Amino acid sequence: MACIKCRKGDEEIEIAHLPGKVCRDCFLKIVEKRVRKDVRVNGYFQDVKKILILDDGTENSAVCSYFAKELTGYSKIGFISKRIKSANGLSWEEISKMIREEKVDRMILPWNAEQESEFLLKGMVSKKGFVRDDTRIIKLLKHLSQKEVLLFAKIKGLRHRKDSEPYDRKINRFLGELEKGSPDIRFALISSFEKI
Ligand SMILES: [Zn+2]
Repeated sequence: MACIKCRKGDEEIEIAHLPGKVCRDCFLKIVEKRVRKDVRVNGYFQDVKKILILDDGTENSAVCSYFAKELTGYSKIGFISKRIKSANGLSWEEISKMIREEKVDRMILPWNAEQESEFLLKGMVSKKGFVRDDTRIIKLLKHLSQKEVLLFAKIKGLRHRKDSEPYDRKINRFLGELEKGSPDIRFALISSFEKI
């Protein structure tokens, strides 16, 4: 069978929101297109001089670094990288402190759709209430699943020290169950928050 996008390559890879499989080249193009769109819609790289990329050693950090440089064409924006243990448990205070201390305008949080959807749902159900999003925080990969990010890193040869972990294990299991009946549940959750 042929790729449903170009009809030339072999169908190899499943990607969210498409009814069939695509070839490797089309997969890479679609991932890039989705990230570009998110950057454009949110104006992530507009009026920015310095950006901090959090490096938690995962495929997310590796792919975020790749896109940060790829999409800004090594322009005037300066990127600095900071190694951290995990991007999952960070509080808003810790994030704000890092932005202040590193003297950057924005920060790239290495999260994919799994972490983002768990973060949003946790905010909804936790007693503390929903933590509002901060425009200084860039989540480049929030529209991509972990599987897609891992595959992208593998094809592009982007090395990482470990695989990303769930933001919240309980919610991860819960969403995992729901995904069996509605595979797009995480993406739907993320999109619904974008419209608020
Ligand atoms: Zn193709």
